[in-house]
Amino acid sequence: MLVKAYNCDTLSGTYAKDAAALANAVKTSGADVVLLPGTSAVRRSAAGAAMRAGAEIDTNIVDASLAGDAVTVQKWAYRQRILTSFTRAAKPWVIVTDPSLFGEICGKLGASAEALPACADAETRTVQNGLEAASGGGESTIRPDAELLFVAGAGWTKKQADGAVHLDEAAKAITGFISKSGASLGSSKSLVDMPEAAEKFTFMSHMNQVGQTGATPRHKKGLSTCCHGEEPHVVGWRFISERRAVNLDANCGWAQGKADVLYVGDAFEVMEKVNALLGA
Ligand SMILES: Cc1cc2nc3c(=O)[nH]c(=O)nc-3n(C[C@H](O)[C@H](O)[C@H](O)COP(=O)(O)OP(=O)(O)OC[C@H]3O[C@@H](n4cnc5c(N)ncnc54)[C@H](O)[C@@H]3O)c2cc1C
Repeated sequence: MLVKAYNCDTLSGTYAKDAAALANAVKTSGADVVLLPGTSAVRRSAAGAAMRAGAEIDTNIVDASLAGDAVTVQKWAYRQRILTSFTRAAKPWVIVTDPSLFGEICGKLGASAEALPACADAETRTVQNGLEAASGGGESTIRPDAELLFVAGAGWTKKQADGAVHLDEAAKAITGFISKSGASLGSSKSLVDMPEAAEKFTFMSHMNQVGQTGATPRHKKGLSTCCHGEEPHVVGWRFISERRAVNLDANCGWAQGKADVLYVGDAFEVMEKVNALLGA
C-alpha cells in the first residue's frame, strides 16, 4: 500500500491551474492513496482533479488508520450526528483531510508531506465550442414561485394492495399533476435516495428533497402524497402555511398534528381522479 501526501502550498487558487496540477500529481504518484490538506484551493479543485485522474475522492476526512493493506477513514455525516468509518477498494483514492489534521493523519498513514510535482501551467482561457439552448436539459420541477408544493414520498415506490409496485403509474400521476397544476415538486429523502426511483423518476433529483437535511420551501400550500410525515418533514415544511397530506395510514405522522388536513386514501386513486379533473 503506497500512500503519498502533498502539502499543496504551491497551488494558485485558480481552478484550471490547480485541477491540472493535482490531477498530474495523482496520476504520476503511482500511489494507492493520495492525501491532501483541505485548504480552500484544494477543496475547489480536488474533485475535478480526481475525476481527470480516474481516481475516487472523499473530502472532510477527520481520521484515518492503516491496518495491513487497508486504509480506513472517518467522516461525519448528517451534520455531525453520525461518525462514519469506511474504506474503498478503488485506486487511486484521494483523501482530503481537514487542514489542521493533515500532519497527524500523514503520521498515522506513514506518509511525509511532499511538494506537488512540477507540471506545465494549464490553459486558463475558455474556448467556446458552440451554443446549446438552456431548455435542452428538460423541464425544471423546482418552482419556488408556484402556489403549491407537491411532495412525493417513498410510498409511490412501495408494493401496493395488489402486491406489485407501479413505478410507471406513479411517474405518470406525479408528472401529470405537476405539469397541469404548475406546482413545484418536493420529495422525501427516502424517495430521492432510492436507486429504482432514480431510474424511473428522472424528473426529480436530490435537489427536490424537502426536510431537515433538504430544502425548506416557502410555498403557500403543500400537498404531501405517499410520505409518512416524520419529524424531518415537519422541519422541511415549517414555512408552508396550509399543509395537507394523502396517506393510506390513518396513524401516519401527518395525523399527529403535523398537517392541517389528512386524507386517508390511496394516492394512486386520488391523483388519478385529480389529474382527470385537471384534464391531464
Ligand atoms: C438526521 C436525519 C435527517 C433526515 N433528514 C431528512 C430530510 O431532510 N428529508 C426527508 O425526507 N427525510 C429525512 N430523514 C429521513 C426521514 O426520517 C424518513 O426516514 C424518510 O424521509 C421517510 O420517507 P417517506 O415518508 O417518503 O417514506 P416511508 O417512511 O417509507 O413512508 C411511505 C408512506 O407512504 C404511504 N403509502 C404507501 N402507499 C400509499 C398509497 N398508495 N397511498 C397513500 N399513501 C401510501 C405509507 O403509508 C407510508 O406512510 C432524515 C433522517 C434522519 C435520521
